[in-house]
Amino acid sequence: MAKTSTLRLKFDSTRTLAPAPESKSIAKIAERYELFINGKFEKPASKKYFNTVNPATEEVLSKVAAANAADVDKVVMAARNAYNKVWGKMPGKERAKYIFRIARLIQERAREFAVIETLDGGKPIRESRDFDVPTAANHFFYYAGWADKLEYAFPNRNPQPLGVAGQIIPWNFPLLMAAWKIAPALACGNTVVLKPAETTPLTALKLAELIQEADLPPGVVNIITGAGDTGAALVNHPGINKVAFTGSTEVGKIIQKAVAGTGKKLTLELGGKAANIIFDDAPLDQAVEGVINGIFFNQGHVCCAGSRLLVQESVYKQVLQKLKDRLETLIVGDPMDKNTDIGAINSRQQLEVINKYIKIGQQEGAEMFQSSAVIPKKGFYCRPTLFTNVAQSNRIAQEEIFGPVLSIQTFRTEDEAIEKANNTPFGLSAGVWTDKGSKIFNMTSKLKAGVVWANTYNKFDPVSPFGGFKESGFGREGGLHGLGAYLKV
Ligand code: ADP
Repeated sequence: MAKTSTLRLKFDSTRTLAPAPESKSIAKIAERYELFINGKFEKPASKKYFNTVNPATEEVLSKVAAANAADVDKVVMAARNAYNKVWGKMPGKERAKYIFRIARLIQERAREFAVIETLDGGKPIRESRDFDVPTAANHFFYYAGWADKLEYAFPNRNPQPLGVAGQIIPWNFPLLMAAWKIAPALACGNTVVLKPAETTPLTALKLAELIQEADLPPGVVNIITGAGDTGAALVNHPGINKVAFTGSTEVGKIIQKAVAGTGKKLTLELGGKAANIIFDDAPLDQAVEGVINGIFFNQGHVCCAGSRLLVQESVYKQVLQKLKDRLETLIVGDPMDKNTDIGAINSRQQLEVINKYIKIGQQEGAEMFQSSAVIPKKGFYCRPTLFTNVAQSNRIAQEEIFGPVLSIQTFRTEDEAIEKANNTPFGLSAGVWTDKGSKIFNMTSKLKAGVVWANTYNKFDPVSPFGGFKESGFGREGGLHGLGAYLKV
């Protein structure tokens, strides 16, 4: 087998492929965005705006309103009114028509959404185009189908909406997370106030334009922008009945405390430190590809990313060499280029967090391997990074990094793999690679993770519930379970 050093020369992939950039011309981004309240764009009471930046180039894309407590008050009132007067009373089959309309409009404007998602968030266009946007549309289609069938979903349990839902989402899947939150809430007859993350507000604001176009009754979906203080004002507002949060475990804990004793229903989808487990009987090339997909595509900006790899000792050397070889072929760079595998890190702040962990890994005595990819001078980028010689107690094996960094450990027996995989504060997801069905069943029953993929990774479908154990949160989104989170039964 060729040594890595020679492969480095061979696979300078950024030089071997001609650029294939997606055109930006389809993306209509306004210079300034207001708050979407009661069906209209309104100036914020705060009179404050903040910049949203393209992390691939550091250019300012737009200015976005920062909502304060007075704005939150106004928006919650609008959602309450819409709930009491229109949406809470509307028959399910009528609600479904609106939700189907949103789904179809997303499909019609898929390319524009994909381009804006990539410009604002830094993820490769291939990912936004082929995964984020179609899956977001699918979520609206799926939940539209449930709107008039809630009695069948919860027979003899008289399912009723909760009221106004306050929904806070992160920056890793901005449009998709908005769909995950808005679609089931609307299907169940709730109205919504959604706050996207401060670094990626643009697709949620585009969705607001589309919701106007879909003629949704004013106040049914409201979208406000701002940072953590806006989110906190929403969570603490007495006029909301439900809080749905996806983000860091740290903020999740603050929200759980804030909501305790208020009677507000809560779902939390927090961090993860998933293990991908490769047994010696697995198809190794397929497994390596799955591991690469699980952590490096999308810059590791996935809460269920397979950020740890556990390899059976007998195939460790082989797997490690295959991983290093494949790492060298990954293209890091302009997210708008259709050949790019790893785009930009979402923000300077997140890049600093990742770099801090890369230093910690080295200080802890782990051995580092980084691809030799040439990265652009401007913008926020990180080379895909492997750590071997990692101890279970190392911070890089225990804490969520949220970047293209993989910690690799070995194991000898199934029990050791289970012990190591479960030994973190998280429990969101895991992956098992083996030829044996019995091993898959044994592992899936013992791994403490909300989702376990077998011989694949990062597969999503609106029909499957998603959510975590332990510090990864509680409550499920997606599928029938996702309806339960927005109903009194
Ligand atoms: P990440 O590390 O993924 O950025 P955060 O948990 O910091 O995750 O952010 C996720 C979302 O939570 C963002 O929309 C952010 O503005 C919001 N947020 C941050 N702090 C708070 C808070 N104290 N209360 C409510 N929402 C918050």
